[in-house]
Amino acid sequence: TLIGKTALVTGSTSGIGLGIAKSLARQGANIILNGFGDAEGPKAEVAALGVKVAYHGADMSKASDIEAMMKFSADTFGGVDILVNNAGIQHVASVEDFPVERWDAIIAINLSSAFHTSRLALPYMQKQNWGRIINVASIHGLVGSAQKSAYVAAKHGIVGLTKVTALENATTGVTCNAICPGWVLTPLVQKQVDAKAAALNISNDEAIKLLLGEKEPSMQFTTPEELGELAVFFCSKAGNNVRGVAWNMDGGWVAQ
Ligand code: NAD
Repeated sequence: TLIGKTALVTGSTSGIGLGIAKSLARQGANIILNGFGDAEGPKAEVAALGVKVAYHGADMSKASDIEAMMKFSADTFGGVDILVNNAGIQHVASVEDFPVERWDAIIAINLSSAFHTSRLALPYMQKQNWGRIINVASIHGLVGSAQKSAYVAAKHGIVGLTKVTALENATTGVTCNAICPGWVLTPLVQKQVDAKAAALNISNDEAIKLLLGEKEPSMQFTTPEELGELAVFFCSKAGNNVRGVAWNMDGGWVAQ
């Protein structure tokens, strides 16, 4: 049980982040949500699970916003016991056409934000001698795909950050691990399905079959709920000595 613990999940107004936040809340953790768009709906979904919930709208591309969010977390719940670095964006283009501003934004949001939250969360975790940092990387932290240079670079980077953070805290009760999902049908992926359907003039279902068929042998999406249960495992007693792993839930993508 995670009763009495506080979990901060970045990018949790949607998709995988919200799924992980709800899984941790089901174990009794109080939750700090973050992300853009409507926050009232996600807040109500988490509160319905019987835990305390707060929200901070920090833009994860800005170190100063992240500092304010970490201070808010400490002021609201005393500190962050479980940090889930999940906020992320995608942009699809070849290297020579990649907009420089998109490259910078993806590196900032998908990689550097996890450095900032981690550096600010670790002192409290080390003092408690208990903490969990869970980085939502991707299968693209382990292998590449054409057209996704910034995303793949950031995700490989966050897998590296995961290993170093795990090693630096290896003799303590603070662990750091990464989760590497294959395809998950969230707004981030629906955009790619829509682009495929439009480009090939095919239906949504046909575009989904093509998308899965290219990479994911199971022909199934992983769900935010399944990823949430993996996060719960990392937070459990059985996860005490799981350190620096990048665990895929990918329908066999990387087994090929
Ligand atoms: P999503 O678009 O549904 O959710 C992204 C969340 O991040 C939203 O809450 C959004 O508001 C927030 N966000 C975006 N930019 C932000 C910023 N600058 N500051 C604060 N919050 C910001 O996407 P998702 O698919 O749930 O993705 C979540 C994570 O999972 C990402 O890191 C993504 O790379 C990773 N991932 C997704 C898939 C997939 O197939 N969907 C696969 C592997 C990894």
